[in-house]
Amino acid sequence: MKAYLIAVALAIVALAAEIGGAYNEFATYKNEFIAYGKFYGRDVSKVMSMRVEFGDIHEPLKHAVGICWETSPEKIVIDKKFWDKASSEVRKILIFHELGHCVLHRDHYDYSSVRPEYLHPEKNHVLPDSIMNQFLLTDEDLQWGGPQYYQDLVAELFITPGICTKKGCER
Ligand SMILES: [Zn+2]
Repeated sequence: MKAYLIAVALAIVALAAEIGGAYNEFATYKNEFIAYGKFYGRDVSKVMSMRVEFGDIHEPLKHAVGICWETSPEKIVIDKKFWDKASSEVRKILIFHELGHCVLHRDHYDYSSVRPEYLHPEKNHVLPDSIMNQFLLTDEDLQWGGPQYYQDLVAELFITPGICTKKGCER
């Protein structure tokens, strides 16, 4: 019985560390999102209370690595296998993308302007205009675009209005 209790206690400590660690990991990006949101005059008041957690999201979207569930309460679910392998830049883009859906009511935006500075000559690939591109940006994209591209992405995310009708805002 004693061993069992210790095992349970250890499991609780491990779980608490996992939740605490994950919370802090997400909080860094949430705080940055809030700072940008305030700078661009957007209502980001619900970001801190927004649940972000690891989970299996391969259903219903086979290749998704993050999802914004418009359940009550809304929550963001992140694929842990992807997260563990991702750089901090890509993690940030993923959290910004999901908060773009859940908080800014943005839909996907897959357009790429043909701007010479964002044309990748070797790959004949134009960098996407938006963090709301349905395919997550890669480290290579971010490195190729550089700091100005990142600033352009952030501005586009917060300046572009979300989809809102008389019935309210939808994703
Ligand atoms: Zn999306």
